Amino acid sequence: MHNNTDLIQRDLANLWHPCTQMKDHEWLPLVPIKRGESVWLEDFNGKRYLDAISSWWVNLFGHCNPRINDRIKQQLDSLEHVILAGFSHEPVVELSERLVEITPKGLNRCFYADNGSSAIEATLKMSFHYWRNKGQHQKTKFITLANSYHGETLGALAVGDVSLYKETYAPLLMEVITVPSPDNYFRETGETKIDYSTRMFKHMEAALEQHAHETCAVIVEPLVQCAGNMRMYHPVYLKLLRKACDKHGVHLIADEIAVGFGRTGTLFACEQADITPDFICLSKGLTGGYLPLACVLTHDRIYQAFYDDYENMTAFLHSHSYTGNPLGCAAALATLDIFRQDDVIENNKKLSTHMGIAVAHLQDHPHVAEVRQQGMILAIEMVKDKANKTPYPWQERRGLKVYQHALEQGALLRPLGNVIYFMPPYVITPEQIDTLATIASEGIEIATKEN
Ligand SMILES: *Cc1c(COP(=O)(O)O)cnc(C)c1O
Repeated sequence: MHNNTDLIQRDLANLWHPCTQMKDHEWLPLVPIKRGESVWLEDFNGKRYLDAISSWWVNLFGHCNPRINDRIKQQLDSLEHVILAGFSHEPVVELSERLVEITPKGLNRCFYADNGSSAIEATLKMSFHYWRNKGQHQKTKFITLANSYHGETLGALAVGDVSLYKETYAPLLMEVITVPSPDNYFRETGETKIDYSTRMFKHMEAALEQHAHETCAVIVEPLVQCAGNMRMYHPVYLKLLRKACDKHGVHLIADEIAVGFGRTGTLFACEQADITPDFICLSKGLTGGYLPLACVLTHDRIYQAFYDDYENMTAFLHSHSYTGNPLGCAAALATLDIFRQDDVIENNKKLSTHMGIAVAHLQDHPHVAEVRQQGMILAIEMVKDKANKTPYPWQERRGLKVYQHALEQGALLRPLGNVIYFMPPYVITPEQIDTLATIASEGIEIATKEN
């Protein structure tokens, strides 16, 4: 028999948790989970938590979804894994066909990895290698947006810009060209989002003009910079970027690892700008939040630049042990079936409208600078001073107070600094959204009470 206390003790004796100052657990209880069902996580004392953040943005259709469970179980009895070099299997072939079908037009080659960061690494190498194969050896740099996030491995960290994760490792990282973000949070009062994102594009245009000759690719998170405090920008920026990348001969990499699979209101965020990037990176929701799997899709022109006689040494000799794992592919196929059978994108429109209404009142809170939303992602930014958006000093850890309140009340909210957000599984109900809104409002009240 296990209970919470027993497992916590055993855990803390041997584990080192991700993105955690372990000393916090001297006073901040770890939460051991026994089982999951739909939006709920249940601990060993029978207490339930509503998973408002989809367990780090991966879960789409609830925990232990019977349809995904069944598909994985079926796959498990026929093939658990096989090397993908020289060998193939049915789930990976079918998944590739389906991904080509649903991603922006023209993307027709699938390269697999086993997590988001490694998909980014593969993409950066592919873009660089493409230009080398084309004899353009001077192209070695990447352009990225301020406040962007692309993962934690060294290449991915280098093209990201969240200082909390990056600064310490700066001496280890390749140099990149960082351009101001079109993030709407900073638009002038009265300025429309489209005007602001358009105005901010001049920085990108200038960077491309200056650096295109030495640049492999521009990498962006389309529409929402998730780890960068859920900051959002207008699709017009992506349209302008697609045109400018073509004009300057630079690849466009769309990192849809977080925003893909319906989070922004369309299946892929790029659809809202009606563009096809040169590379799209997918992971997180790809398996419905079940298993680690990632895919980079690109188009023929890139693929053909690597396709040659072996001795010409143009092949992309990059691999990960679990590339294209059949169980992961089976989970992904079950996930795509649910999208198709349940008209998910259409139903999410109702949920996202409901979400917006449920927290609209927080816009008037004296310590909320902005309530922003893009589809199924909603964020509430707490500030010390509303008039000039002065943030609370990070040392005060106000968001953590919201986290603690939510846990007491039976919800998993995990703010990013002072930004509380909802990115729930799509099986959440309107009533559950109302509950979350209440818990978040109370939490914000508590967190902002002391000056
Ligand atoms: C999470 C994330 C990554 C990294 O994915 P991991 O699987 O955590 O390595 C990369 N890019 C974006 C936009 C992400 O949100």
